[in-house]
Amino acid sequence: MSLGSNLGDKRKNMAQALALLTQKGVKILRASSLYRTQPVGYTEQLWFYNQVIEVSSSLNPYDLLRLIKGIEKRMGRKPTRPSGPRPIDIDILLAEDCIIRTKRLTIPHPRMQKRNFVLVPFKEMSPGTTHPVLKKTISELWKKSTDSSVVRKLKPPKEKAEGLYIERKQKEKSERKKGLRAVSVGGLQT
Ligand code: AMP
Repeated sequence: MSLGSNLGDKRKNMAQALALLTQKGVKILRASSLYRTQPVGYTEQLWFYNQVIEVSSSLNPYDLLRLIKGIEKRMGRKPTRPSGPRPIDIDILLAEDCIIRTKRLTIPHPRMQKRNFVLVPFKEMSPGTTHPVLKKTISELWKKSTDSSVVRKLKPPKEKAEGLYIERKQKEKSERKKGLRAVSVGGLQT
């Protein structure tokens, strides 16, 4: 799925959408970094934050669509022009090898291969995923893309970066200790 936001606290909106999906039983398996992206289509609006996620769910694609539309509504999305400003937009990009073409739902998402804001985060998360209709990987679709809109990876928030730094240092310390223990055990055995 693809998540986008360009109204209000964008980082918070993205996190809230993930939390609401999780609350409704959708499991987030993988997520790309957040990207700051230039609007495509209707360009007279603020830049977006975008992200691509991989989920697992017991819902069929139509029920998943109903769920994400409910989350968009709950998060204050009002009907605007296509590609217009929104606190959150959630699209289904792929559903394994499923191909659906109905009035309500099209999977694979018909514009995903034309949008840098989808292809760049998707390529970061899973470059080798194959588009079931175009029979090309996400990496190949990105190379072929003629979209010139700007997509920049965002750094994680400072607290998170600091948290991760502390976590990494603690892990390194405990691994060093474990290594020492392994060496001394080895020493006793030989
Ligand atoms: P959006 O403006 O992105 O919220 O999409 C508008 C409409 O597109 C929705 O009301 C859906 O019925 C329809 N739609 C068709 N295919 C998809 C898809 N793969 N993911 C999300 N919405 C879709």
